[in-house]
Amino acid sequence: MTFTDRHRRAMALIADTFAPGNDAGIPSASAVGAPEMALHLAASGPRVADAQQLEKLLGLWDSPLFALAMFGTPRRFSAMSREQRERALVRLGDSSSPSKRALFQALKAGATLPYTLAVGEPLWQTMDFPGPLGAPANAPEPPLHAEHVTGPTTLDADVVIVGSGAGGGPAAAVLAAAGLSVIVLEAGEYYDDRDFDGDEARGIGQLYTNVGSADGQISLFEGRTLGGGTVVNYSTAFRTPDRVRAEWAALGAGQFASDEYTRALDAVWERLGATQDYSTPGRRDAVLERGAQALGWDAGTLWRNVDGCDQGTVCGRCGLGCALGAKKSTAKTWLRDAQDAGARILVGVQARRVTVAGGRATGVEAATADGIPVTVRARAVFVAAGSVQTPSLLLRSGLENPNIGAHLRLHPATAVLGLMDEEVLPWTGTMQARYVDRFADLDGEGYGAILETAPITPALGSAFVNWRSGAQYLARLAEWRNTVDVAVIVRDKGPGGRVRIGADGEPIVDYTVAPQDAEHMMQAMVGAARLVAAAGARRVRTTHQQDTVWEPASGGIEAFERDIRRQGVGPGRLGLVALHIMGSARMGGAAATSAVNPDGRTWEVDGLYVADGSSFPTASGVNPMVSIQAISYMTATRLAAALR
Ligand SMILES: Cc1cc2nc3c(=O)[nH]c(=O)nc-3n(C[C@H](O)[C@H](O)[C@H](O)COP(=O)(O)OP(=O)(O)OC[C@H]3O[C@@H](n4cnc5c(N)ncnc54)[C@H](O)[C@@H]3O)c2cc1C
Repeated sequence: MTFTDRHRRAMALIADTFAPGNDAGIPSASAVGAPEMALHLAASGPRVADAQQLEKLLGLWDSPLFALAMFGTPRRFSAMSREQRERALVRLGDSSSPSKRALFQALKAGATLPYTLAVGEPLWQTMDFPGPLGAPANAPEPPLHAEHVTGPTTLDADVVIVGSGAGGGPAAAVLAAAGLSVIVLEAGEYYDDRDFDGDEARGIGQLYTNVGSADGQISLFEGRTLGGGTVVNYSTAFRTPDRVRAEWAALGAGQFASDEYTRALDAVWERLGATQDYSTPGRRDAVLERGAQALGWDAGTLWRNVDGCDQGTVCGRCGLGCALGAKKSTAKTWLRDAQDAGARILVGVQARRVTVAGGRATGVEAATADGIPVTVRARAVFVAAGSVQTPSLLLRSGLENPNIGAHLRLHPATAVLGLMDEEVLPWTGTMQARYVDRFADLDGEGYGAILETAPITPALGSAFVNWRSGAQYLARLAEWRNTVDVAVIVRDKGPGGRVRIGADGEPIVDYTVAPQDAEHMMQAMVGAARLVAAAGARRVRTTHQQDTVWEPASGGIEAFERDIRRQGVGPGRLGLVALHIMGSARMGGAAATSAVNPDGRTWEVDGLYVADGSSFPTASGVNPMVSIQAISYMTATRLAAALR
């Protein structure tokens, strides 16, 4: 994809309107190279179609006709004054048209993410953010031998595993320990302690992937590195709640309610060394706990799969990889066990297709990013590529069961922001130490939302700051040092979304927050607002694009509640993300209702197994990593017995 000067000029105009800098020395987007970075990010994304769409948009951007259609004036964007350009963008963001609002949000993210990644000082100084921490001293040698492919390669194994995250890791260990030859294919690269310097630009660029829902309502984030999401996640460990296990069993996979699944959970819990020893509340969680106590609500202590956290400066960057080696990702646990038992691990290799002969999986066709072909012939294929890529791979491989890609479940999440008198420095402290489950069962059937705080570094935080003008945006970033963010994490009840693939074979995610889930989100947001107010917040905001502000000292919460309900959760209205992605190849009792059977085997193809977040029959309601690992452990144990 090559962008022309016309595209570059349009991108620079847009980015400099979102981030014009100021007279106090904060540079503009162009001054720090953000427009170039935005184009580079777009061109290097997984979907060529997205880059082509941006190319088309930028080609049209500065024409009078486009301005008329988008901003209601025939004046070209480049001919407007800065104030007029700001008003034009705000008008787009406040439009009654969902697609215009979604376009605004896409442009805002496209401009402000590279800006906050590149800007550095003196903006960081105004926030009191120290920037990257630097590579850790004395980091040990990485423990895994991760192989790269340098020429066309064909390999043989008993089992080829696609993906190395929460689903792929335990399976590799269990199958290798059973004496089977195992090859793990991971699309991402291998990074370890010595690479984790707390730099957002590096961490986000190397370790993450994200895809937005087709209507622009919600962004889905996943890890894309050896260890998958377990390398970047916040190490909060929850066993699957009994009520959820019963629900899953009732949907056809009876073992969820049996000792078999309990044993799998126990094995995972033990291997991860889940503990409460490193759950000292940081400043964010101290606010959460204080607010809950003031209201007479419970704030539970979280279990975490860690050993050796500093619970201070380094821990706040845990989402960019743990420099202390404290987080027990699959790269630190199961993949080591697998390697010790003889498994081979290939990185930078993306599976494109499962090969099938006579109704039976025979292996995987894959390729490196440079297009070098890799073929693995195997007795069984174990897909654990995450809830976006697993159904995509199955669909690319020609599977037709309509449940593949369907029933996509998310924990749609937003944040309620409290401006405190005290310094919060939300990029520091234990990742997550407390949670509030007061809103977890709002319908009597176990659906609702939990509240947890989340670490916020400037670029991550930029997604949660609404934009009304360049000056307002900078002022809000400067407030982060005193801001607590309480994440509202909804257990969606469905009907859920769908992952399908485009003509290029890459995933397209259809997902709309259902009315009852939106209602649960609203109730929990109001609860979170009350909580931060009880903890002393001077001002409370949501992440709505239109300003929503409650100043507790000036009056009750009613007007604020009316306001956030009026704005709702439609595309482009509210900052919404999903870090927990589930259900898109769900396990169940019949081909008519599920994608895989209770053994984890696809109903259509023998020897083709799935175990990762996509296996969940419904959303877990709690952070899903432990449940995913338990499903993987259980499924791999069954498969090992079958192959032996
Ligand atoms: C920022 C963040 C914080 C989180 N915090 C928590 C938390 O505190 N607690 C918790 O329980 N959960 C948390 N989660 C969620 C949890 O990490 C994920 O649910 C979990 O990792 C998903 O497991 P998975 O096996 O389905 O997919 P992943 O762990 O994402 O693994 C899939 C792997 O497959 C690879 N892959 C994809 N396609 C291919 C292909 N075609 N070929 C080869 N490889 C491929 C990917 O690169 C990836 O490494 C968090 C997630 C994020 C993003």
